[in-house]
Amino acid sequence: MYDLIIIGAGPAGLTASIYASCLGLKHLVIGKVIGGQMILAPDILNYPGYDEINGQDLSNRMVQQAKKRGGVILTDSVINVSQIEEGFLLKTEQNQEYQAKTIILATGVERRKLNVPGENEYTGKGVEYHAKWGRFDYLGKVAVVVGGANAAAQTAVQVGHSANKVTIIYRGSDLRCDEVWKKHISENPKIDELYNSSVSEIKGDGQKVTEITVLTKAVQNQTTSKNLAVDKVFIEIGGVPGSALLIPLGVTMDPGGFIAIDEKLATNVPGVYVAGDVISHRYSIEQITSAVGSGARAASLVFSFLKQQTAPTLWGSSQIRRG
Ligand SMILES: Cc1cc2nc3c(=O)[nH]c(=O)nc-3n(C[C@H](O)[C@H](O)[C@H](O)COP(=O)(O)OP(=O)(O)OC[C@H]3O[C@@H](n4cnc5c(N)ncnc54)[C@H](O)[C@@H]3O)c2cc1C
Repeated sequence: MYDLIIIGAGPAGLTASIYASCLGLKHLVIGKVIGGQMILAPDILNYPGYDEINGQDLSNRMVQQAKKRGGVILTDSVINVSQIEEGFLLKTEQNQEYQAKTIILATGVERRKLNVPGENEYTGKGVEYHAKWGRFDYLGKVAVVVGGANAAAQTAVQVGHSANKVTIIYRGSDLRCDEVWKKHISENPKIDELYNSSVSEIKGDGQKVTEITVLTKAVQNQTTSKNLAVDKVFIEIGGVPGSALLIPLGVTMDPGGFIAIDEKLATNVPGVYVAGDVISHRYSIEQITSAVGSGARAASLVFSFLKQQTAPTLWGSSQIRRG
Protein backbone atom coordinates (compact mmCIF):
# COMPACT_ATOMS: atom_id res chain seq x y z
CA MET A 1 0.00 0.00 0.00
CA TYR A 2 1.57 3.25 -1.20
CA ASP A 3 0.72 6.64 0.30
CA LEU A 4 0.41 7.94 -3.24
CA ILE A 5 0.47 6.78 -6.83
CA ILE A 6 1.05 9.42 -9.50
CA ILE A 7 -0.43 8.50 -12.88
CA GLY A 8 1.57 10.26 -15.60
CA ALA A 9 5.26 11.06 -15.95
CA GLY A 10 5.17 14.45 -17.67
CA PRO A 11 6.34 17.63 -15.92
CA ALA A 12 3.30 17.60 -13.59
CA GLY A 13 3.79 13.98 -12.47
CA LEU A 14 7.57 14.26 -12.15
CA THR A 15 7.30 17.43 -10.06
CA ALA A 16 4.66 15.81 -7.87
CA SER A 17 7.14 12.96 -7.33
CA ILE A 18 9.98 15.32 -6.34
CA TYR A 19 7.70 17.00 -3.80
CA ALA A 20 6.27 13.69 -2.57
CA SER A 21 9.81 12.46 -1.86
CA CYS A 22 10.69 15.66 -0.04
CA LEU A 23 7.51 15.27 2.04
CA GLY A 24 8.40 11.68 2.90
CA LEU A 25 5.48 10.08 1.02
CA LYS A 26 5.92 6.46 -0.08
CA HIS A 27 4.97 6.76 -3.71
CA LEU A 28 5.20 5.45 -7.25
CA VAL A 29 5.00 7.16 -10.64
CA ILE A 30 3.42 5.21 -13.49
CA GLY A 31 3.78 6.80 -16.93
CA LYS A 32 3.10 5.63 -20.46
CA VAL A 33 5.65 8.01 -22.02
CA ILE A 34 8.31 9.27 -19.64
CA GLY A 35 8.56 13.04 -20.01
CA GLY A 36 5.11 13.38 -21.58
CA GLN A 37 4.45 16.02 -24.23
CA MET A 38 7.51 17.92 -23.07
CA ILE A 39 9.79 15.56 -25.04
CA LEU A 40 8.12 16.72 -28.28
CA ALA A 41 9.15 20.34 -27.73
CA PRO A 42 12.28 21.01 -29.82
CA ASP A 43 13.31 24.11 -27.91
CA ILE A 44 11.65 25.58 -24.87
CA LEU A 45 12.22 29.30 -24.41
CA ASN A 46 9.92 30.04 -21.50
CA TYR A 47 10.93 27.66 -18.71
CA PRO A 48 12.57 29.69 -15.93
CA GLY A 49 16.24 29.02 -15.30
CA TYR A 50 16.99 27.99 -18.89
CA ASP A 51 17.46 30.57 -21.60
CA GLU A 52 16.68 27.79 -24.08
CA ILE A 53 16.39 24.03 -23.55
CA ASN A 54 15.39 21.03 -25.64
CA GLY A 55 12.30 19.26 -24.24
CA GLN A 56 14.01 15.87 -24.04
CA ASP A 57 16.90 17.42 -22.06
CA LEU A 58 14.49 19.10 -19.64
CA SER A 59 12.66 15.80 -19.23
CA ASN A 60 15.92 13.92 -18.56
CA ARG A 61 16.81 16.44 -15.87
CA MET A 62 13.40 16.16 -14.20
CA VAL A 63 13.52 12.34 -14.29
CA GLN A 64 17.06 12.35 -12.87
CA GLN A 65 16.04 14.72 -10.07
CA ALA A 66 12.89 12.73 -9.25
CA LYS A 67 14.92 9.50 -9.01
CA LYS A 68 17.67 11.18 -6.97
CA ARG A 69 15.09 12.36 -4.42
CA GLY A 70 13.86 8.74 -4.14
CA GLY A 71 11.01 8.50 -6.66
CA VAL A 72 10.35 5.22 -8.47
CA ILE A 73 9.17 5.67 -12.05
CA LEU A 74 7.59 2.79 -13.97
CA THR A 75 6.90 2.76 -17.70
CA ASP A 76 3.41 1.29 -17.91
CA SER A 77 -0.13 2.40 -18.60
CA VAL A 78 -2.87 2.49 -15.98
CA ILE A 79 -6.02 1.00 -17.47
CA ASN A 80 -8.35 0.98 -14.48
CA VAL A 81 -8.73 2.77 -11.14
CA SER A 82 -11.27 1.61 -8.57
CA GLN A 83 -12.03 2.52 -4.98
CA ILE A 84 -11.20 0.06 -2.19
CA GLU A 85 -11.67 0.41 1.55
CA GLU A 86 -8.18 1.78 2.21
CA GLY A 87 -7.94 3.90 -0.93
CA PHE A 88 -7.54 2.94 -4.58
CA LEU A 89 -6.66 -0.11 -6.66
CA LEU A 90 -4.88 0.49 -9.96
CA LYS A 91 -4.56 -2.04 -12.76
CA THR A 92 -2.04 -1.63 -15.56
CA GLU A 93 -1.56 -2.75 -19.13
CA GLN A 94 1.32 -4.99 -18.00
CA ASN A 95 -1.11 -6.89 -15.74
CA GLN A 96 0.18 -5.35 -12.52
CA GLU A 97 -1.97 -4.21 -9.58
CA TYR A 98 -1.03 -1.47 -7.14
CA GLN A 99 -2.79 -0.01 -4.12
CA ALA A 100 -2.50 3.51 -2.80
CA LYS A 101 -4.19 5.68 -0.19
CA THR A 102 -4.30 8.60 -2.64
CA ILE A 103 -3.76 9.25 -6.33
CA ILE A 104 -2.66 12.21 -8.43
CA LEU A 105 -3.87 12.09 -12.01
CA ALA A 106 -1.33 13.88 -14.24
CA THR A 107 -2.19 12.33 -17.59
CA GLY A 108 -2.09 15.51 -19.68
CA VAL A 109 -3.85 16.03 -22.98
CA GLU A 110 -3.56 14.23 -26.26
CA ARG A 111 -3.54 16.75 -29.11
CA ARG A 112 -6.23 16.27 -31.74
CA LYS A 113 -4.80 15.59 -35.16
CA LEU A 114 -6.16 16.61 -38.55
CA ASN A 115 -5.52 13.09 -39.86
CA VAL A 116 -4.59 14.27 -43.34
CA PRO A 117 -1.78 13.03 -45.62
CA GLY A 118 1.59 14.59 -44.75
CA GLU A 119 0.67 15.50 -41.15
CA ASN A 120 2.71 12.77 -39.48
CA GLU A 121 5.59 13.01 -41.97
CA TYR A 122 6.04 16.75 -41.39
CA THR A 123 5.38 16.93 -37.65
CA GLY A 124 8.35 18.86 -36.25
CA LYS A 125 9.33 19.85 -39.82
CA GLY A 126 6.83 22.69 -40.11
CA VAL A 127 3.75 21.02 -38.66
CA GLU A 128 3.40 22.13 -35.03
CA TYR A 129 0.86 21.62 -32.27
CA HIS A 130 2.24 24.48 -30.16
CA ALA A 131 3.66 27.83 -31.19
CA LYS A 132 6.76 29.15 -29.48
CA TRP A 133 6.25 32.18 -27.25
CA GLY A 134 9.23 34.28 -28.39
CA ARG A 135 8.33 37.50 -30.23
CA PHE A 136 10.82 36.86 -33.05
CA ASP A 137 10.52 33.10 -33.56
CA TYR A 138 8.74 33.17 -36.91
CA LEU A 139 10.47 36.09 -38.54
CA GLY A 140 9.79 36.10 -42.28
CA LYS A 141 7.65 32.91 -42.21
CA VAL A 142 4.34 32.27 -43.92
CA ALA A 143 2.09 30.35 -41.56
CA VAL A 144 -1.39 28.91 -41.35
CA VAL A 145 -3.24 28.16 -38.15
CA VAL A 146 -5.93 25.50 -38.33
CA GLY A 147 -8.79 25.98 -35.86
CA GLY A 148 -11.20 28.66 -34.74
CA ALA A 149 -11.32 28.70 -30.93
CA ASN A 150 -9.19 30.57 -28.38
CA ALA A 151 -6.05 28.43 -28.83
CA ALA A 152 -6.05 28.96 -32.59
CA ALA A 153 -6.71 32.69 -32.28
CA GLN A 154 -4.01 33.11 -29.65
CA THR A 155 -1.53 31.17 -31.80
CA ALA A 156 -2.31 33.38 -34.79
CA VAL A 157 -1.66 36.50 -32.69
CA GLN A 158 1.52 35.04 -31.20
CA VAL A 159 2.93 33.94 -34.57
CA GLY A 160 1.68 37.14 -36.20
CA HIS A 161 4.15 39.21 -34.16
CA SER A 162 7.02 38.02 -36.32
CA ALA A 163 5.64 36.07 -39.31
CA ASN A 164 5.18 37.76 -42.70
CA LYS A 165 1.68 36.35 -43.04
CA VAL A 166 -0.69 34.19 -40.99
CA THR A 167 -3.88 32.66 -42.36
CA ILE A 168 -6.41 31.16 -39.99
CA ILE A 169 -8.17 28.24 -41.65
CA TYR A 170 -11.45 27.38 -39.99
CA ARG A 171 -14.34 25.19 -41.06
CA GLY A 172 -16.90 27.47 -39.38
CA SER A 173 -18.11 30.81 -40.68
CA ASP A 174 -16.77 32.95 -37.80
CA LEU A 175 -14.11 32.54 -35.10
CA ARG A 176 -15.52 31.23 -31.85
CA CYS A 177 -12.87 32.84 -29.65
CA ASP A 178 -13.00 35.61 -27.04
CA GLU A 179 -13.54 39.16 -28.31
CA VAL A 180 -10.09 40.21 -27.13
CA TRP A 181 -8.44 37.81 -29.61
CA LYS A 182 -10.74 38.93 -32.41
CA LYS A 183 -9.63 42.50 -31.70
CA HIS A 184 -5.93 41.59 -31.81
CA ILE A 185 -6.48 39.70 -35.06
CA SER A 186 -8.37 42.54 -36.71
CA GLU A 187 -5.65 45.00 -35.67
CA ASN A 188 -2.87 42.97 -37.32
CA PRO A 189 -2.96 43.38 -41.13
CA LYS A 190 -0.68 40.33 -41.51
CA ILE A 191 -3.42 38.00 -40.18
CA ASP A 192 -6.37 36.97 -42.33
CA GLU A 193 -9.04 34.28 -42.15
CA LEU A 194 -10.28 31.62 -44.53
CA TYR A 195 -13.68 30.41 -43.36
CA ASN A 196 -15.68 27.31 -44.31
CA SER A 197 -12.33 25.78 -45.12
CA SER A 198 -10.21 22.81 -44.15
CA VAL A 199 -6.74 21.47 -44.92
CA SER A 200 -6.86 18.26 -46.93
CA GLU A 201 -3.15 17.64 -47.48
CA ILE A 202 0.24 18.84 -46.26
CA LYS A 203 3.11 18.61 -48.73
CA GLY A 204 6.83 19.20 -48.50
CA ASP A 205 10.25 18.53 -49.98
CA GLY A 206 11.04 15.70 -47.59
CA GLN A 207 12.81 18.06 -45.14
CA LYS A 208 10.16 20.68 -44.48
CA VAL A 209 6.61 21.76 -45.28
CA THR A 210 6.26 23.76 -48.50
CA GLU A 211 2.57 23.68 -49.38
CA ILE A 212 -0.92 22.77 -48.21
CA THR A 213 -4.14 22.02 -50.05
CA VAL A 214 -7.19 23.88 -48.76
CA LEU A 215 -10.78 22.92 -49.51
CA THR A 216 -13.36 25.69 -49.23
CA LYS A 217 -17.10 25.20 -49.26
CA ALA A 218 -18.59 27.77 -51.59
CA VAL A 219 -22.21 28.58 -52.41
CA GLN A 220 -24.60 25.66 -52.87
CA ASN A 221 -22.14 23.44 -51.03
CA GLN A 222 -19.72 23.30 -53.93
CA THR A 223 -16.13 22.77 -52.83
CA THR A 224 -13.16 24.55 -54.34
CA SER A 225 -9.58 23.45 -53.86
CA LYS A 226 -6.41 25.55 -53.87
CA ASN A 227 -2.78 25.16 -52.89
CA LEU A 228 -1.06 27.63 -50.55
CA ALA A 229 2.72 27.95 -50.19
CA VAL A 230 3.54 27.85 -46.46
CA ASP A 231 6.45 27.31 -44.06
CA LYS A 232 4.47 26.51 -40.92
CA VAL A 233 1.19 24.73 -40.18
CA PHE A 234 -0.07 25.14 -36.62
CA ILE A 235 -2.79 22.65 -35.72
CA GLU A 236 -4.89 24.03 -32.89
CA ILE A 237 -8.07 21.98 -32.90
CA GLY A 238 -8.06 21.10 -29.24
CA GLY A 239 -7.05 18.09 -27.26
CA VAL A 240 -8.51 15.08 -25.51
CA PRO A 241 -7.83 15.17 -21.76
CA GLY A 242 -6.58 11.95 -20.17
CA SER A 243 -9.41 12.03 -17.65
CA ALA A 244 -11.42 8.94 -18.69
CA LEU A 245 -9.70 6.84 -15.99
CA LEU A 246 -11.50 8.80 -13.29
CA ILE A 247 -15.02 8.44 -14.71
CA PRO A 248 -15.80 5.28 -12.66
CA LEU A 249 -14.82 7.14 -9.47
CA GLY A 250 -17.45 9.81 -10.11
CA VAL A 251 -14.97 12.66 -10.39
CA THR A 252 -16.60 15.87 -11.66
CA MET A 253 -15.46 17.13 -15.05
CA ASP A 254 -16.11 20.30 -17.04
CA PRO A 255 -17.97 20.12 -20.37
CA GLY A 256 -14.69 19.52 -22.23
CA GLY A 257 -13.85 16.47 -20.11
CA PHE A 258 -11.15 18.28 -18.09
CA ILE A 259 -11.18 17.63 -14.34
CA ALA A 260 -13.02 20.18 -12.24
CA ILE A 261 -11.30 21.23 -9.04
CA ASP A 262 -12.01 23.57 -6.18
CA GLU A 263 -9.83 26.50 -5.18
CA LYS A 264 -7.52 24.09 -3.34
CA LEU A 265 -6.98 21.96 -6.49
CA ALA A 266 -8.95 19.13 -4.91
CA THR A 267 -11.46 17.06 -6.87
CA ASN A 268 -14.87 16.13 -5.46
CA VAL A 269 -13.57 12.65 -4.50
CA PRO A 270 -11.50 12.54 -1.28
CA GLY A 271 -7.98 11.28 -1.94
CA VAL A 272 -8.06 12.04 -5.69
CA TYR A 273 -5.90 14.96 -6.81
CA VAL A 274 -4.97 16.21 -10.27
CA ALA A 275 -2.11 18.15 -11.81
CA GLY A 276 -1.08 19.60 -15.15
CA ASP A 277 -2.92 19.95 -18.45
CA VAL A 278 -5.71 17.53 -17.48
CA ILE A 279 -7.08 20.17 -15.08
CA SER A 280 -9.92 22.41 -16.19
CA HIS A 281 -8.65 25.41 -18.18
CA ARG A 282 -9.79 27.75 -15.43
CA TYR A 283 -6.66 26.69 -13.55
CA SER A 284 -4.20 25.60 -16.26
CA ILE A 285 -2.59 27.32 -19.24
CA GLU A 286 -1.26 24.07 -20.79
CA GLN A 287 2.37 24.98 -20.24
CA ILE A 288 5.24 23.29 -18.44
CA THR A 289 5.34 25.98 -15.78
CA SER A 290 1.66 25.52 -14.89
CA ALA A 291 2.08 21.72 -14.91
CA VAL A 292 5.06 21.95 -12.58
CA GLY A 293 3.23 24.36 -10.24
CA SER A 294 0.14 22.20 -9.95
CA GLY A 295 2.28 19.03 -9.51
CA ALA A 296 3.96 20.60 -6.49
CA ARG A 297 0.64 21.79 -5.09
CA ALA A 298 -1.05 18.40 -5.59
CA ALA A 299 1.72 16.56 -3.71
CA SER A 300 1.50 18.98 -0.79
CA LEU A 301 -2.30 18.58 -0.72
CA VAL A 302 -1.86 14.81 -0.56
CA PHE A 303 0.51 15.29 2.36
CA SER A 304 -2.05 17.43 4.24
CA PHE A 305 -4.85 14.98 3.38
CA LEU A 306 -2.92 12.00 4.78
CA LYS A 307 -1.94 13.93 7.90
CA GLN A 308 -5.58 14.87 8.48
CA GLN A 309 -6.53 11.18 8.32
CA THR A 310 -4.51 10.63 11.49
CA ALA A 311 -5.32 13.99 13.07
CA PRO A 312 -8.79 13.56 14.66
CA THR A 313 -7.42 12.00 17.86
CA LEU A 314 -4.92 14.80 18.32
CA TRP A 315 -7.55 17.44 17.59
CA GLY A 316 -9.95 15.75 19.99
CA SER A 317 -7.50 15.59 22.86
CA SER A 318 -6.34 19.20 22.40
CA GLN A 319 -9.94 20.41 22.40
CA ILE A 320 -10.67 18.45 25.56
CA ARG A 321 -7.63 19.98 27.24
CA ARG A 322 -8.68 23.49 26.20
CA GLY A 323 -12.19 22.90 27.56
C1 LIG B 1 5.31 20.15 -29.62
C2 LIG B 1 5.04 20.77 -28.27
C3 LIG B 1 5.78 21.87 -27.89
C4 LIG B 1 5.54 22.46 -26.64
N1 LIG B 1 6.29 23.54 -26.29
C5 LIG B 1 6.14 24.08 -25.06
C6 LIG B 1 6.96 25.16 -24.64
O1 LIG B 1 7.82 25.65 -25.39
N2 LIG B 1 6.77 25.63 -23.38
C7 LIG B 1 5.83 25.12 -22.53
O2 LIG B 1 5.74 25.57 -21.39
N3 LIG B 1 5.03 24.11 -22.92
C8 LIG B 1 5.16 23.58 -24.15
N4 LIG B 1 4.35 22.54 -24.54
C9 LIG B 1 3.25 22.12 -23.63
C10 LIG B 1 3.78 21.23 -22.51
O3 LIG B 1 4.58 20.20 -23.04
C11 LIG B 1 2.60 20.68 -21.73
O4 LIG B 1 1.82 21.74 -21.23
C12 LIG B 1 3.08 19.84 -20.54
O5 LIG B 1 3.90 18.78 -20.97
C13 LIG B 1 1.90 19.27 -19.74
O6 LIG B 1 2.40 18.49 -18.72
P1 LIG B 1 1.55 17.34 -18.01
O7 LIG B 1 2.50 16.69 -17.08
O8 LIG B 1 0.30 17.89 -17.52
O9 LIG B 1 1.13 16.35 -19.19
P2 LIG B 1 1.96 15.58 -20.28
O10 LIG B 1 3.26 16.23 -20.54
O11 LIG B 1 1.02 15.40 -21.42
O12 LIG B 1 2.24 14.16 -19.61
C14 LIG B 1 1.20 13.25 -19.42
C15 LIG B 1 1.79 11.96 -18.89
O13 LIG B 1 0.74 11.04 -18.59
C16 LIG B 1 1.01 9.81 -19.21
N5 LIG B 1 -0.23 9.06 -19.35
C17 LIG B 1 -1.35 9.37 -20.04
N6 LIG B 1 -2.29 8.42 -19.84
C18 LIG B 1 -1.74 7.49 -19.01
C19 LIG B 1 -2.19 6.29 -18.43
N7 LIG B 1 -3.43 5.81 -18.66
N8 LIG B 1 -1.36 5.59 -17.64
C20 LIG B 1 -0.11 6.05 -17.38
N9 LIG B 1 0.37 7.18 -17.89
C21 LIG B 1 -0.42 7.91 -18.70
C22 LIG B 1 1.73 10.21 -20.49
O14 LIG B 1 2.38 9.12 -21.09
C23 LIG B 1 2.68 11.24 -19.90
O15 LIG B 1 3.72 10.61 -19.23
C24 LIG B 1 4.56 21.94 -25.77
C25 LIG B 1 3.82 20.80 -26.15
C26 LIG B 1 4.05 20.24 -27.39
C27 LIG B 1 3.24 19.03 -27.81
